[in-house]
Amino acid sequence: MYYSGITTCDIANGTGVRVVLWCSGCSLHCPGCHNPEEQSFVYGLPFGELAMQTLIDSLAPSYVAGLTISGGHPLEDWNAPIVQEIITTVRAHFPKKTIWIYSGLTWEEIMKNDTYSAIIEQCDVLVDGRFELDKRDITLAFRGSINQRIIDIKQTLKQNKIVEVMK
Ligand code: SF4
Repeated sequence: MYYSGITTCDIANGTGVRVVLWCSGCSLHCPGCHNPEEQSFVYGLPFGELAMQTLIDSLAPSYVAGLTISGGHPLEDWNAPIVQEIITTVRAHFPKKTIWIYSGLTWEEIMKNDTYSAIIEQCDVLVDGRFELDKRDITLAFRGSINQRIIDIKQTLKQNKIVEVMK
């Protein structure tokens, strides 16, 4: 997996102060994509030990609420094994911090794929769905278009119905 950067003090991609990993590569090609350069699977740098250590070090301060995995698209087949490894490592180091993940796939699409659903089930919040230009709303928190949902993963699995963190 390649990544375009790590933002260490972000408040626009989830609740609280967060570390954001920007994964490269997305095959969904939404018209009006906010990060078109990140659709390339070789944009930026290969994700390796140094980047993993940067994530760990950046997440350590007590004021950091957790990690957000965005892109690009973390749930591409090429990215999924590394994303899985990142989540496992971060969970081991910081069991109380939250993990948010963005996907252009909907919850329903993700749940049809064993690999993707296994990743999502290790996270706390999923922002799902493609960016839809005709549903764009710049007043929305943490997402670009009104069709995208901010899903409480654990509650959604427990109640077997979509539970949104906020509308
Ligand atoms: S899912 Fe996200 S990164 Fe992929 S094309 Fe759509 S807006 Fe761009």
